[in-house]
Amino acid sequence: MIIGVPKESYPGERRVALVPLVIPNLKKVGFEILVQSGAGVEAGYPDALYTEKGAKIVPDRTAVFGQADLVAQVLCYGSNDVTGNEDLPLMRRGQIITGFLRPLGSVDVLQQIAATGVTSFAVELMPRTTRAQSMDALSSMATICGYKAVLLAAVTLPRIFPMLTTAAGTITPSRVLIIGAGVAGLQAIATARRLGAVVSAYDMRPASKEQVQSLGGRFVELPIEAKDAQDARGYGTAQDESFYAKQRELLGRTVAESDVVVTTAVVPGKKAPVLITADMVRKMAPGSVIVDLAAERGGNCELTKAGETIVDHDVKIIGRINLATEVPYHASQMYARNLTSFLLHIVKDGKLQANGDEILRETMLTQGGEIVNARVREFLKLAPAPTAR
Ligand code: NAD
Repeated sequence: MIIGVPKESYPGERRVALVPLVIPNLKKVGFEILVQSGAGVEAGYPDALYTEKGAKIVPDRTAVFGQADLVAQVLCYGSNDVTGNEDLPLMRRGQIITGFLRPLGSVDVLQQIAATGVTSFAVELMPRTTRAQSMDALSSMATICGYKAVLLAAVTLPRIFPMLTTAAGTITPSRVLIIGAGVAGLQAIATARRLGAVVSAYDMRPASKEQVQSLGGRFVELPIEAKDAQDARGYGTAQDESFYAKQRELLGRTVAESDVVVTTAVVPGKKAPVLITADMVRKMAPGSVIVDLAAERGGNCELTKAGETIVDHDVKIIGRINLATEVPYHASQMYARNLTSFLLHIVKDGKLQANGDEILRETMLTQGGEIVNARVREFLKLAPAPTAR
């Protein structure tokens, strides 16, 4: 089976789906690898490193799609809503496409992908089982985002993070609040702690308390309880507006006392809940910083503008999207390892596993012209697929 790696085409995207490091593992089991010239350059992986490991460089995207049995991407059409549709005419029936496809996004886009006849696998749908942990690209990218969000806050804040005792007196540490203690939030806690800040964190899932504390964060307990806070996959669930209103009310004081707030609260397939209102922002000290990692999903702060940094009452609200691309070397390395582990699992002897297991079944999005994924069909309110998987 030939794997093709095109250059990512989303504007500003610097990651690459496979890095040279993983190529020997793929070649060992019989894969051939084609890489579009320059695909890894912006992530720190020039063509020569790929050829050294036995990959072949091809000149352009058309050659990659034309020759590959399996196309490995980071942002496929679906998650790449700017240039992704240019790949549609290059896709062909039976070809395999893997990457971020935003499976709980637009049904029209998914139908366009299905109509090409490709067998597509969305990494977002990876089951959260021990077995699939090494394939979990969503968690890898969340880790990078949590880390980078804190660094962004640190360089934007007009204060120092750690406590310093100097000849010029003592500097008190910055207070950092993390809202949403999932993968990104936990990495944000760890990063802010390494920089010496005093860190607190809140999540509506009670299970997160122990994790926050194990990283040296103070867990903010609110006297409200979410109904079924966590679904079977471990994701936070959507709550009603009265719950969010109560959260905002109770979080007000903690937000006002924080120099930095990093928010990561999202619910799969839903608009992110607003947990910080404009009023709450106005009660923060001048110079404070909010980094809203939910910006692309509507934002956890009422004032967030996706892709922009805005200033309101001297508080900076950073709504950068696609933060993982800003650490392209390691984001690509982690992604490539996840993808390699996934491909080694679903492809055996040059063919997709015949009797697909849970991992293959849950990640397969389209096949033979149809959206075949049961969870996605249910989410999009489509009738069960005729070829129900
Ligand atoms: P996520 O990215 O879906 O959401 C981020 C966090 O926001 C979650 O912790 C969620 O509870 C929280 N949140 C949502 N709405 C909220 C609200 N209104 N108020 C406060 N917090 C809110 O989360 P995630 O990174 O996918 O992690 C969710 C859980 O799944 C974590 O416990 C994580 O460790 C676990 N996880 C397990 C596996 C695995 O078993 N393989 C893999 C990844 C994550």
